[in-house]
Amino acid sequence: MTRANVAGKGGVRRPRYFATVLLVCGLCALPACASGSVVDRASPAPATRTPPSPSASEPPSETPQESLPPPVTPTTAPPRVVVPYRVEVRVPDVSPSDFAATVRATLADPRGWTGAGFDLVETPDAPHVIVLAEGAEVDVLCLPYETYGAYSCQNGPVVALNADRWRVATPEWTGDLGTYRQMLVNHEVGHLLGQRHVECAKPGSLAAVMVQQSTELKGCLPNAWPLPEEIGDAARHDQPIAPGPGE
Ligand SMILES: [Zn+2]
Repeated sequence: MTRANVAGKGGVRRPRYFATVLLVCGLCALPACASGSVVDRASPAPATRTPPSPSASEPPSETPQESLPPPVTPTTAPPRVVVPYRVEVRVPDVSPSDFAATVRATLADPRGWTGAGFDLVETPDAPHVIVLAEGAEVDVLCLPYETYGAYSCQNGPVVALNADRWRVATPEWTGDLGTYRQMLVNHEVGHLLGQRHVECAKPGSLAAVMVQQSTELKGCLPNAWPLPEEIGDAARHDQPIAPGPGE
């Protein structure tokens, strides 16, 4: 009974009994992937403005500065939210330690969601799990949504990555395989953190990580990392983690 965010080349059909919007992830090309699933982008949180404060170490200024605007202080860092996760590799040809290392490095990278205040910490008994599995198993993990043996998804606390996508990316992907894997992890974990799809904002610019990049780059450049505006959105922490249907 959870919303699935499905990734995969070719598309995903709606669940049998949910009228809610299906959020289709990284690889899906169906119109349903984008329609209605784009996050409502409210204005970013305004920067905090504070009047200049006198400093005891500075001499008083003899020149009035009423014409100068008050300085803009940097937006305060978002509060930290710890999101424990664990990994499971259910295919024989991928080293669990290598997979875990890639996931760990991606999620701890300062270019990633950690910049939005999320500390994704690998923990043996974590409620959230990132699974690498063959398509048939991913299909089960992603129910009630179908992933057709080819796609990945976020479904409640489960991020299920299709092993074939991990092995070879997609023919449409124009970046290297390492970048694809980082994108896949950041995209699906972005869903886990409540983030939804966006579209290519401007051809020639970097794609947002929540763009379905493998098939819907639409002129954007492949990119594994959340754009600053995505970090800003996520830093509000106003979306549920591991969202379910309608959330
Ligand atoms: Zn997605």
